Amino acid sequence: MDRYAVVGNPIAHSRSPQIHAAFARQTGQALRYDALLAPVDGFARTVADFRARGGRGLNVTVPFKLEAFALATRRTPRAEMAGAVNTLAFEADAILGDNTDGAGLVRDLEGNLGFALAGCRILLLGAGGACRGALLPLLASQPAALTIANRSVAKAAALAALFAPEAGAASLDACGFDALAGRRFDLVINATSASLSGALPPLPPGLYAEGALAYDMMYGRGDTPFMAAARADGAARIADGLGMLVEQAAESFALWRGVRPDTAAVLAELRRQIDGG
Ligand code: NDP
Repeated sequence: MDRYAVVGNPIAHSRSPQIHAAFARQTGQALRYDALLAPVDGFARTVADFRARGGRGLNVTVPFKLEAFALATRRTPRAEMAGAVNTLAFEADAILGDNTDGAGLVRDLEGNLGFALAGCRILLLGAGGACRGALLPLLASQPAALTIANRSVAKAAALAALFAPEAGAASLDACGFDALAGRRFDLVINATSASLSGALPPLPPGLYAEGALAYDMMYGRGDTPFMAAARADGAARIADGLGMLVEQAAESFALWRGVRPDTAAVLAELRRQIDGG
């Protein structure tokens, strides 16, 4: 049976084995998918062992996405731009590295949430790996404008400069949180890790245009401080990142198996489990 796994540290909390097992059942693919704990200093060794035992591909999560990028012998353009790899596919004489996080985000926004990105004004909070992975797919969706705001403004500015050639007709700019005062957006995405520690980026009020969506990439923690603040600030719709998780998994599955699973039922089941405690 073809073997796949998600590798990270920690990894016990990962929902990926459950998601991929559901995809495999649904599409009739015979495969096994495990969770693999790699020592923080033993990523390459863990990957090599897995491959030697017949492993066909890996999902990669915290803290190994940069090491996975370095390990890949060839990379997709979106992985190249993201500067990080969350999906490895083992080929006869190559290791393909891909990044499906950003595509997963866009599929969740447009497919699951029915939010049209074309022509809208997007505010992306953060300038870490998740933000970087999201930029190319978001810009490819032809928004009118995309603003990157981060605590360390220089990091946001560096990303805006790096992605400027990909912006097309969209206006792309970067700033700190306080410079957002007086501006309004149709979509605000929290790609900071602030929610992980129950913190909130210091955002000025009045950010949300009529009908705007607030999206936190965080999932599984109920209402985050970002989501609560967005509701208080007048966001019309609020979403967490569970759909992004399922959609990035579907992108990886499609890359490995050449068949795209239907995510709706899998997402609904996961939502039921998480919201039901
Ligand atoms: P990184 O560590 O790479 O980046 C963290 C970012 O958050 C930085 O821009 C940092 O700012 C900012 N930040 C951290 N704490 C605060 C705070 N208290 N106030 C304001 N800004 C803060 O993390 P990732 O990019 O990898 O992950 C970000 C989030 O996205 C996480 O919550 C993660 O769980 C989620 N995620 C969800 C996925 C999904 O499938 N749903 C997939 C991938 C990530 P600075 O630069 O100033 O330090």
